[in-house]
Amino acid sequence: MSPARPRLAVWKFASCDGCQLTLLDIEDHLLDVAGALDIAYFPEATKGEVEGRYQLSLVEGSITTPHDAERIREVREMSETLVTIGACATAGGIQALRNWADVDEYLSIVYAEPRYIDTLSTSTPIEHHVRVDFELRGCPISKHQLIEVIDAFCHQRKPGIPRHSVCVECKLRGTACVMVAQGIPCMGPITQAGCGAICPAYDRGCYGCFGPSQDPNIDSLAAWWKRLEVSDVDLVRALRTFNAYSPEFREASEAYERRA
Ligand code: SF4
Ligand code: SF4
Repeated sequence: MSPARPRLAVWKFASCDGCQLTLLDIEDHLLDVAGALDIAYFPEATKGEVEGRYQLSLVEGSITTPHDAERIREVREMSETLVTIGACATAGGIQALRNWADVDEYLSIVYAEPRYIDTLSTSTPIEHHVRVDFELRGCPISKHQLIEVIDAFCHQRKPGIPRHSVCVECKLRGTACVMVAQGIPCMGPITQAGCGAICPAYDRGCYGCFGPSQDPNIDSLAAWWKRLEVSDVDLVRALRTFNAYSPEFREASEAYERRA
């Protein structure tokens, strides 16, 4: 039987902790969350630990070791609802660059004693390993979207997270398009909204932190970037930044890599 207040657990896999910190950065709403949920397991914030089951698990980070591939299955078994948070957990993160590299070569360069390192040759999203109930994108995630996901869980409804592109956010805040007006390459047309279009507001192109928007037209973006004299090599680099192992960015980066 479920406890009076649903239990929340926050788990970390291969990641920088930035998305977990977003939960601590929700300021006034943190007290509301603590009132609605029993924060039972959150090592980043407290030493206190209540053993599962947990009604809601937030999972940060990607799977990069055999141990973590086992651990995520245990987390899934203990969790009634499992939500992945951030680009690492939903798309492999920056560490997914290893998926196109020789990991043994990396190990020999980075570590003095590589024989002590037990790692997988890939960094993969959580959904490659266990069933995921909802993916919250971003590097880091948006605190407003995190509150929406928690509120939706508390009221047993679907989270209202938009899948449209960052371009819509530019229009909403009245930012002149940096790609059209200034010729700055921008990932916004193929990137999911959520950041508030911060980078274009400061005269920079979008870096694609929130991963692919719904049905991204990557070929159209590539044609625009070609007009701006961006090479295919740089396009591949842009697609393989924070969300390299999302299906859309992965497939497009491999196609443009073959062409480069
Ligand atoms: S998605 Fe970005 S901010 Fe979140 S844990 Fe990964 S690297 Fe850090
Ligand atoms: S600046 Fe980028 S995100 Fe904004 S409207 Fe132009 S292409 Fe879209």
